[in-house]
Amino acid sequence: MATKLDEKLEPIFRDVLRRNPGEDEFHQAVREVLESLGPVLVKYPEFAEQKIIQRICEPERQIIFRVPWQDDSGETHINRAFRVEFNSALGPYKGGMRFHPSVYLGIIKFLGFEQIFKNALTGLPIGGGKGGSDFDPKGRSENEVMRFCQSLMTELYRHLGEYTDVPAGDIGLGQREIGYLFGQYKRVTNRYESGVLTGKGLDWGGSRARKEATGYGTVFFAQEMLKARSDALDGKTCIVSGSGNVAIYAMEKAMQLGARVIACSDSGGIIVDKDGIDLDLVKQIKEVERRRISAYAEERKSARYIEDGSIWSVQCDVALPCATENELNGNDAKQLVSQGCIAVAEGANMPTTPEGIHVFQEAGIAYGPGKAANAGGVATSALEMQQNASRDSWTFRYTESRLEEIMKTIHTSCFETAKEFGSPGNYVVGANITGFLKVARAMTALGLV
Ligand code: NDP
Repeated sequence: MATKLDEKLEPIFRDVLRRNPGEDEFHQAVREVLESLGPVLVKYPEFAEQKIIQRICEPERQIIFRVPWQDDSGETHINRAFRVEFNSALGPYKGGMRFHPSVYLGIIKFLGFEQIFKNALTGLPIGGGKGGSDFDPKGRSENEVMRFCQSLMTELYRHLGEYTDVPAGDIGLGQREIGYLFGQYKRVTNRYESGVLTGKGLDWGGSRARKEATGYGTVFFAQEMLKARSDALDGKTCIVSGSGNVAIYAMEKAMQLGARVIACSDSGGIIVDKDGIDLDLVKQIKEVERRRISAYAEERKSARYIEDGSIWSVQCDVALPCATENELNGNDAKQLVSQGCIAVAEGANMPTTPEGIHVFQEAGIAYGPGKAANAGGVATSALEMQQNASRDSWTFRYTESRLEEIMKTIHTSCFETAKEFGSPGNYVVGANITGFLKVARAMTALGLV
């Protein structure tokens, strides 16, 4: 199913496989970018001569460390944490931290690699990095989560700094954890360095609209893709996978733009609400009570919960995958297309498998890959850094308008680049090439470092 690689890129990919054994998600992310770059090397042979692609595929620095902590009963636990500082050609490393039992080096490297191009697409001065731990916050008490975050930061702080590396949240790591991490950073460095972490609370250096930014941005991107086809979200039926930070605010913006959202999920199952999702109830269950999404169906007569159900079997016009990587495969994509889905915008990172992407592209539906469609989160993190640097705090309306403008610009540059390189309407090609060119030019200018 995979597209054949250009003959100059095939040995580069083989080398990535050899040097990074067993890291399937990283291989997948690299391959997807390399598949787009053949025409770039024809137009810019200097990037091949300078081995820019080989350099981009090798992280500048990888940090792996032990995180020891005690649970409430006094038992000792040992977790492993990672920070992969991938590329700093455009600015300090920037990218979230993920807390999930599935985390290992291959996941962090795939996320860090994607982050390089995504951050470049925002047009803001941020390099790419990512981190996380195999710690599972589910079922842990507040105190256990705090102790874990403090132990992690006691090691990680020495690698961070507002001009060095600036983490944020991701799966399993939201504002509560950012608070504990920031508190410990402040304590061990004796510096109130607001710009060292983003996703902070509004009372202690956070930005308005950051919490909403990834989900809102994904929907702005979907709206732009539809506009390019003389269509709009208004009146469309939407489904959104997940019910975490990205999913909740994707649903909110989709509803604000006139769409009807009828389904969402968590890792246990899906809920379908024929009257439309009651977002206040989802927020109460997920953000306040931290319960399972199944609780929604207990509270709403119009909804049903399907344990282990596939959200992609629910008929829709627009699908927004906002949970996790490889959650939408070739068969799911076929089902979506056959049931009339006309657009997919990814709030999650790499949620669609290569086979799924192929189905969408063959069907000619509008498909916005995560590195473009979910870039609004990191873009607003960079706006949070701007506010921290100027000791200022912007209004919600202004910050959201900046976010919307950035998403429109990303859409336009992906659209135009795809056309320029012979793949009109292909946002994968557009995003990969636009991001790559920006980083490659900066790396060239900065010399062999
Ligand atoms: P959250 O932890 O807030 O929410 C994740 C949601 O996805 C939950 O509903 C969770 O269900 C579900 N989920 C997670 N893992 C799995 C799995 N293996 N199988 C099925 N469902 C799963 O994370 P975010 O909303 O922050 O992140 C979601 C996605 O968006 C990720 O891919 C992340 O990398 C990406 N992203 C996030 C950004 C941000 O600003 N937060 C920025 C850009 C991208 P459950 O609770 O049952 O685990």
